[in-house]
Amino acid sequence: MKDSKVLYERAKRIIPGGVNSPVRACGSVGSTPLFIKKGKGSKIYTVEGYELIDLVLSWGPLILGHAHPSIVDAVKNAVEQGSSFGAPCEGELQLAQMITQAIPGIEMVRMVNSGTEATMSAIRLARGYTKRNKIVKFVGCYHGHVDHLLAQAGSGVATFSIPGTPGVPEDIVKNTILINYNDTDGVKDTFKKYGDEIACVIVEPIAGNMGLVMPENDFLKILREITEENQCLLIFDEVITGFRFHYGGIQDLFDIRPDLTCLGKIIGGGFPVGAFGGKKKIMKHLAPEGDVYQAGTLSGNPVAMAAGVAQLNTLKEMNYNALSEYTKHLVQEIKKIFQKKHIPVKINQFGSAFTIFFTDKQNVANFNDAKTTNTDIFSKFYIHMRKLGVNIPPSNFECLFTSFAHDFKDLEKTLEVVQKFSI
Ligand SMILES: *Cc1c(COP(=O)(O)O)cnc(C)c1O
Repeated sequence: MKDSKVLYERAKRIIPGGVNSPVRACGSVGSTPLFIKKGKGSKIYTVEGYELIDLVLSWGPLILGHAHPSIVDAVKNAVEQGSSFGAPCEGELQLAQMITQAIPGIEMVRMVNSGTEATMSAIRLARGYTKRNKIVKFVGCYHGHVDHLLAQAGSGVATFSIPGTPGVPEDIVKNTILINYNDTDGVKDTFKKYGDEIACVIVEPIAGNMGLVMPENDFLKILREITEENQCLLIFDEVITGFRFHYGGIQDLFDIRPDLTCLGKIIGGGFPVGAFGGKKKIMKHLAPEGDVYQAGTLSGNPVAMAAGVAQLNTLKEMNYNALSEYTKHLVQEIKKIFQKKHIPVKINQFGSAFTIFFTDKQNVANFNDAKTTNTDIFSKFYIHMRKLGVNIPPSNFECLFTSFAHDFKDLEKTLEVVQKFSI
């Protein structure tokens, strides 16, 4: 019989850390990864044959669950026609039309292969368009592994940053300014000092990479106003939020129009797809129409486009409110269970995403708040959930996601497993 631990040992010999993306190694929760053989609906199955309810969903993309028939069919049909042309295909046009129709702030869009590529390209475009170099990002927001975004705060926040990892030269992050999420005063101070040097502000309109953290006190509105006043661009990184909470971008629910928007995850239906788009007058600066270079051999890949189109077509018919209610109910019941166990938690939830912080804090509104979570308890919780058949992200600073494939049996089972948890 196949065994995840054996496969992991073998993988470690030829793949750094045994994984192709670090968090999957489950190191931060003191565990090792499960090798997954298949997924269907709300469940994944390991090589050993264990079944788990999946609340990771490939870190967000699979909002229809695993192997949704509409996507499987679309992909089969597409791949039979050839897997890549390096020339325009109708699928690109179709997905671009669906995105621009669903998100009015995106008048023009370009496809790429990942969320990282989307943010990297959007920032290059913002710099090329404004002819300025500095960028503002928020502590705890993640925008992929782009060099100048892998920065951490220097001696104080709202100052220039230092590299977040070896391999990123100081020179590359010296133009990256870091501010705490929801810190509107920090934003105002920064713009007072450097307003006319800032090319763009990039932000997750709902943060999902320090756990789920909501924008507060007109944070996004103030970002919109101050960027406009200073003639710099506002970039919404909607790689998680795009099509997660309704059919479109979260920007429309907040009634704020950024200059550029980055997408990924859901729009690819489980395939490597990203996109960035926005105002025509800005997007026109991209090559070949403009002079800001950006390219990709597999960008707009016909198979990936077919998956994205099938995913969005199916999502159009889905009842997002019901999914939100389902998730809210799950979260309320989890909260009750922890209350009875006298384990303090603060659960941030919005729509079909949530994070359980093991903290006394009444409000988790930025990365410092998030870091008060007791990661030892979380690690135990992760291992407990997994052992009893519920897959959650192997890090406390991530979102748990539900999908349209999750039903009340999954909910009951998940609650039963939480109920059995003890510290
Ligand atoms: C996942 C994510 C990215 C990076 O996307 P990849 O496809 O992993 O490169 C960027 N921004 C946000 C908000 C994300 O959650």
